[in-house]
Amino acid sequence: MQHWSPSHLNTELAKKPVRCLEYVVVQEMVHLIELSHNERFRAILDRELPDWRQRLDELNSGHLADEGWEVAMAESAAREAE
Ligand SMILES: [Zn+2]
Repeated sequence: MQHWSPSHLNTELAKKPVRCLEYVVVQEMVHLIELSHNERFRAILDRELPDWRQRLDELNSGHLADEGWEVAMAESAAREAE
């Protein structure tokens, strides 16, 4: 599991749609409760942000996706590993 540092917020995140930023913030808050991307983590996300998968897709489909933005890639990898 790889996580972003606050410095990423200033540049890359600022270019993302707000709903994608919401996803990033919410999922990071969920990590305060559950560290890994396990069933409990996704259950909490489902409850707090029911369309989080769609937001994650939007995050990854942006024009910055191919720049290898760490959070999106890490989260995507975690999801594919399910
Ligand atoms: Zn995460």
